This record gives sequence, structure tokens and C-alpha cells, in this order.
Amino acid sequence: MKEKAIIITAPSGAGKTTLVKKLLASRTDLAFSVSACTRDMRQGEQDGVDYYFLDTQEFQRKIEANEFLEWEEVYKGMFYGTLRSEVNRIWTNGQAVIFDIDVKGAKHLKAQLGEKARAIFIAPPSVEVLKERLQGRGTESEESLKKRLDKSMAEMAYEKDMDLTVVNDDLEKAFTELSHRVNEFLQN
Ligand code: 5GP
Repeated sequence: MKEKAIIITAPSGAGKTTLVKKLLASRTDLAFSVSACTRDMRQGEQDGVDYYFLDTQEFQRKIEANEFLEWEEVYKGMFYGTLRSEVNRIWTNGQAVIFDIDVKGAKHLKAQLGEKARAIFIAPPSVEVLKERLQGRGTESEESLKKRLDKSMAEMAYEKDMDLTVVNDDLEKAFTELSHRVNEFLQN
């Protein structure tokens, strides 16, 4: 297979990670690019599977050594980045690479990878649904909910920078459409 990449991005709360996991479970021609990050490992996560968990110094060293295709301070003091070595490992293995990445990272990756990449924006069906989904994540204050909603709204503005949009109204429907779009891109 030619060197190809699927970039999946979305505002938080749109359900992109669920879709990426479903896609990966359904086929062998795609492999997930494990990012590096400096945040703490959460319960249930594994180093080298969910992320490569690095300390800030190690992350900085990799920036200087040009080991990242893109990197970003997604939250204050928390760095995330795509390793060139991951992408090359997957391509050498004859697979296409799939990224689950925030909107800014997606824009950077698309600029770096050009024609090799197809950037897919996962959109919530409406602002109301997005709000419900963010609320559903747990008990949080009105203020922090508002902050997260504002962030998601700002992230919606990146839709126009991507190649296509899949609306995640119904998970199964969105998955079918996403699979179809991925097939289309990988077959050509
Ligand atoms: P979390 O800490 O919840 O796993 O991820 C936080 C955010 O960082 C998510 O929006 C995720 O998509 C983004 N992210 C994960 N890996 C990368 C990466 O390699 N580069 C960038 N720019 N963002 C990433």
C-alpha cells in the first residue's frame, strides 16, 4: 500500500475516540499512531499502547532532535506529539496510519503530510447534543462545563480546514459512513 494517513479530529464531545477504536477493531490495514505526551497515565492506560508517557525533559529533547512530525501544548504544561518513528514503522509494515488528534494537531499534520493524508472531521449533530454529551461525562460545575463548551465551539471552526465531515448522530450510522470514506481513500 502507498504511504497513507487518516486523520480523525473533532471538537471534544463529538465521539471521535470511540469511532477510531471501532475502526481499528474492524480492520487490519490501519494502525494507530501512538503519540507521546507528558500528562500522567490514567487508570487502565498502558505506556506504549495509549501513549508513550514521557517527562517534560525527554519530550523537549525529542523536539530538539526533530523526532516529532508535529507537537503541541494541548493543555497548559501538557505536551502531546506525533512521532516520526511511529508513522514510519506503520508504513514500513504496509499499513495506513490513523491519528486521533485535536483540531490544531490535525491541521499541522495535514500540512505536513499533504496528499498522503485524508483529514476527517467528526461533528456532533448539534450544539445541544454536544452540550448533553459534555454534561454526561460527570458531575462538574456550570463554570467548567461552560469552559469546555466554549472550547468545543472554538474547535468547530476547524471543520472547514479538513477534507470531509462525518456527523456523529447515531454511532452505527457514523461508523458505516466513516468506514466507507476510509475505503474510498485507501483504495485509490
Ligand atoms: P487526552 O489527554 O484526553 O488523551 O488527550 C487530550 C487531547 O490531546 C485530545 O484532543 C487528543 O486528540 C490530543 N492529542 C493526542 N495525541 C496528540 C498528538 O500527538 N498531537 C496533538 N497535537 N494532539 C494530540
